[in-house]
Amino acid sequence: MLTLNAPVHASHPDLPMTFSRRRTRPVVVGNVTIGGEHPVVVQSMINEDTLDVAGSVRAIQRLHRIGCEIVRVTVPSLAHAHALADIRQKLQQQYLDVPLVADVHHNGMKIALEVAKHVHKVRINPGLYVFEKPKDNRTEYTQAEFDEIAAKIQATLAPLVISLREQGKAMRIGVNHGSLSERMLFTYGDTPEGMVESALEFIRICESLDFRNIVISLKASRVSVMLAANRLMVKRMDELGMNYPLHLGVTEAGDGEYGRIKSTTGIGTLLAEGIGDTIRVSLTEAPEKEIPVCYSILQALGLRRTMVEYVACPSCGRTLFNLEEVLHKVRSATSHLTGLNIAVMGCIVNGPGEMADADYGYVGKTPGSISLYRGKAEIKRVPEQEGVAELIKLIKSDGRWVEPQV
Ligand code: SF4
Repeated sequence: MLTLNAPVHASHPDLPMTFSRRRTRPVVVGNVTIGGEHPVVVQSMINEDTLDVAGSVRAIQRLHRIGCEIVRVTVPSLAHAHALADIRQKLQQQYLDVPLVADVHHNGMKIALEVAKHVHKVRINPGLYVFEKPKDNRTEYTQAEFDEIAAKIQATLAPLVISLREQGKAMRIGVNHGSLSERMLFTYGDTPEGMVESALEFIRICESLDFRNIVISLKASRVSVMLAANRLMVKRMDELGMNYPLHLGVTEAGDGEYGRIKSTTGIGTLLAEGIGDTIRVSLTEAPEKEIPVCYSILQALGLRRTMVEYVACPSCGRTLFNLEEVLHKVRSATSHLTGLNIAVMGCIVNGPGEMADADYGYVGKTPGSISLYRGKAEIKRVPEQEGVAELIKLIKSDGRWVEPQV
């Protein structure tokens, strides 16, 4: 259906209908598991000041109630790390033990060690965890300098790794394109390879301490860089016999329609290649706005089912009713029936054939009348103004209707 008056209804039998997910090791984060056979996990981050314990508890609950399964909280100081003890305790008392991730920043060893006692997972950024201020006049990075910092990273990371290992908690090694260390930039350039090597250096330290409860992320604000880095990470992990789950996201995606499109392009492309075990859509909007986008990406790819799946034609010269208005009415009446596929199609010429595997169809028949379908079978023809009510009756008669919760 490409043009208004010359609909095209081509099918592509050669395209695969399904894709298989990359096999990853399961990583437990509180009562949620990332990777393995588990569904792709949705996460987000509150933007309250962590020192505001009551406000943070409210924000975490708000996010969790709408489907955010893991919530991240920023921890820029030791005081913030201590506040997380209170936040966790209040959540347990007043609500649920929501899986929490602490985001640790520059030179964060002491903070990470403290906060590891209170949360389920600690996220560190390899570019910042041992932060060396870039030198303005540097022209090279010698192997000796490289190794000296590597030793410092090993010494600084080890206590955190041991603490997380002993508590059965998890770590995210979260590389950001924009904050690669100077040492990685000199050695590998500002490239996906630099991002991957940065993650691998930290993974090797974890493995040397027999710690494998690790999730990896390689984020960038440019979708092409994020895609290349994740694909290269998978290739390198395959070569090295590693199977850590990946957390996907496009950083600084912005807001509005373009922010959503950018995030969907990056996250959705990788998921469609079978890559990715948990996702975060980062929008410059309230974090609550991120969750529906995550679920839409997952539902569109058939990875999670949290909504009714609507199939609707774009309308054209053959359309026999106001499609936008009817789709809106059908959606308002049925959007709580999670799991159903409902099609709204403008005409019988191509509508029934294009409804794919919809459970029910609402199809324009003649001017003023529509036909209701169950699967591919036409059930009855009714006047257009009774269409939505008759559709509900049909779903009820099949025992598939539930009353909407008020
Ligand atoms: S009205 Fe019919 S031909 Fe036109 S887009 Fe819809 S289904 Fe296709």
